[in-house]
Amino acid sequence: MGKKALAPYRIFAGRLLTSTALGLFGYFINCYPVPLFSNIELVLGNTLILLCASRLGPYYTLWCAALAISGLAQAWGHHYVYLTYGLEALVVCLLRRRGWYLLYADLFYWCFLGMPITALVILQFFTIPVDYQFFTVVKQGFNGFLYTALASLISLLIPSGWFRLIRQQPNVLRTFRQKLVHAVLVMLSLVFIGSMLVASRNLVITQQQLLAFNLNERSAHLVHEYQRYLDFHQRAVLNASQWLLRGVYEDEWQGALEQLHRQYPGYLTMLMTDSTGRITQASPSHLMAGNPVLSVADRNYFKVPMTEGRPYISALLQGRGFGQDPIVAISAPILGEDLQPVGIVEGSLDLTHIANDTNHSHWGEVAMVLTDSESRVIYASEILKLNVFSPFEFLKLKEVEGFDLSLMNIHSTSSSVGEYFYHHTTLANGWRLYVMLPYRPLAERLEAYYMLGIGLLVIGMVLATLLARQIGAYLTSPLEFLVRKLMQRQQSEDPLSRLPALPRGSALEVRTLYDELETNRSALRAYQHSLEELVATRTAQLEAANAKLAQLAHRDGLTGAYNRRYFDQQFETARQHCVRGEGQLGLALIDIDHFKAINDNHGHLVGDDCLKSLVTLIQNHFTRKLDLLARYGGEEFVLLLPHSRPEELIPKLETLRRKVADSPLSFTADGEPLHVTVSIGLFVAEPEFSTVQTDWILAADTALYQAKQGGRNRLCLADSTTQDTETVRSV
Ligand code: GH3
Ligand code: MG
Ligand code: MG
Repeated sequence: MGKKALAPYRIFAGRLLTSTALGLFGYFINCYPVPLFSNIELVLGNTLILLCASRLGPYYTLWCAALAISGLAQAWGHHYVYLTYGLEALVVCLLRRRGWYLLYADLFYWCFLGMPITALVILQFFTIPVDYQFFTVVKQGFNGFLYTALASLISLLIPSGWFRLIRQQPNVLRTFRQKLVHAVLVMLSLVFIGSMLVASRNLVITQQQLLAFNLNERSAHLVHEYQRYLDFHQRAVLNASQWLLRGVYEDEWQGALEQLHRQYPGYLTMLMTDSTGRITQASPSHLMAGNPVLSVADRNYFKVPMTEGRPYISALLQGRGFGQDPIVAISAPILGEDLQPVGIVEGSLDLTHIANDTNHSHWGEVAMVLTDSESRVIYASEILKLNVFSPFEFLKLKEVEGFDLSLMNIHSTSSSVGEYFYHHTTLANGWRLYVMLPYRPLAERLEAYYMLGIGLLVIGMVLATLLARQIGAYLTSPLEFLVRKLMQRQQSEDPLSRLPALPRGSALEVRTLYDELETNRSALRAYQHSLEELVATRTAQLEAANAKLAQLAHRDGLTGAYNRRYFDQQFETARQHCVRGEGQLGLALIDIDHFKAINDNHGHLVGDDCLKSLVTLIQNHFTRKLDLLARYGGEEFVLLLPHSRPEELIPKLETLRRKVADSPLSFTADGEPLHVTVSIGLFVAEPEFSTVQTDWILAADTALYQAKQGGRNRLCLADSTTQDTETVRSV
């Protein structure tokens, strides 16, 4: 596909679509926060916001956050979440733009902004018990850390190409060590928090199971006790109503009632009435003494048995006449012979003696409340500080899912944090029994558990960071060392010098790389040596070739004598030499006589042969290093003779001339020796004679001309002063 750029509106659409999709997904997840315990819930939808922040800019992130947070606002019914989580999205997005990792950015946010702001919000807008606030705040940070770790993991696993075209956040180049530390921290956080949540969930479930079981047990036991207590006392009254009339004389009723009362001390008082409701007997007997005749005709415990002929248990009553105690009246009709009620027998049950109910359990002190059918407190454990007769009011929080367990608040009825777990049962007479266990001990246990977990997580993270850095260093330190040494070596005089040994404990991979580098270095070094040798050989060869070329350029191809150009070059040098040495300069032109005839008669090859032989002969004759023989053209040669005087030169050239004439220079086709002669024009003068070379040639040439004219095979000397020539010798 390549790096195809999208049109701007398509990029915009892509970003909007992505942030909206992430936001909506987050919204749905946030609509169902995961319950942890009590009113603590786990937020997971914000993972999507952070995912958006990791790739897109602040505007799209805020849009995504607005969508996702709405789910939470809906689920929790608070709007402060827009503040804390919205700010989180913005801060993380901006830090991310500066190259921060999500995890570190979010950790920073919760430590320095998120938790303080949450604390302020809670203080300002919520009625949560003080000791609970700290935990709630820490939980928010902990939760934030969880979904950030989740987002970081997803972010690490997402193929790099996914957001390539719409990406706004930078792709930061990081060191191996940074990446390793980050990856380890993400994994550690996820695994640790994940397992902690699972473990705490199990803990909560187990605790709540036990708690529910405990409450149910206790409740069932108490209900049974109450029922038995009531039945027991009701049966006493019922029995009395039957045997009093039949078995006891009326004047002994007082004594019988008192005896009965002694057997059932649960009754505060007992009494009997006649059919009009006037109290006829009472126990203890002193109650009657001094009292005017009392009537209970208006009381239900009199009316019901009298009119309906059945026993009766009253609702909660305030005692009257015999005291102001809260009582329950249990009554039964005394039936006459025609089975018509002739009065009632009644006992006022002492409610404060019902049961010695308070009890300690694993979760704290068990409390109980007993209400009558009109929800008035009959009895309440002392710690609850409830008044008898007061209506029992409480705020039912929520049912704990899966258990016969609910949470209630009886004191701070506006708080969302529960005070008691409770279980309630309705007795046969319409009374209600609430058995309650305080919520705090369990919450405290879980809080301690979470705080311990967070502490361990922090320690774990510090250790993991150190460990990851150590592991990273295991690989990167020797690599950095290697790179540094390579750079140093590059700048040194010998870029192929041996690398220093790797530090101890370097990773095997780096060691292999080092060995490979060293092998390459040795190979390069060997190659360098062979290359240097090759260059030396080639240079020598080139120099030899150049020398040869120079020689070739200076020499005549046929005879090996110097050529005319070289003569031209050397002439001035030789002349200067003579100037410095104050010597004379001699110049001799040597021309073969009738050479054309030789060519014509014997062929050019023989002519060539003659030329070569002549050169050899002259060279052998003039052996001074200063003397220079050049072929001046055709069969004509020039001898440059510095520091020579005529009286030396003339005999020497004469000897040469004779030598040429005497020795055969070649052989004819028949094998006959071929003799040739030469004419020589010599000019000797002071070097100052002329700086112009042609003047010298001309002078010698004049002498040569003279020699030719004079009959050949002779030497003529040109006079340097007169320009005349003199024939030295003629044959
Ligand atoms: P003179 O005695 O007057 O010098 O007569 P000559 O024949 O030597 O003089 P001329 O200038 O008439 O002829 C020179 C001849 O030299 C002509 C040419 O064929 C011959 N010649 C010149 N260069 C070479 C050469 O390289 N090889 C051969 N074989 N012959 C050459
Ligand atoms: Mg000639
Ligand atoms: Mg000639």
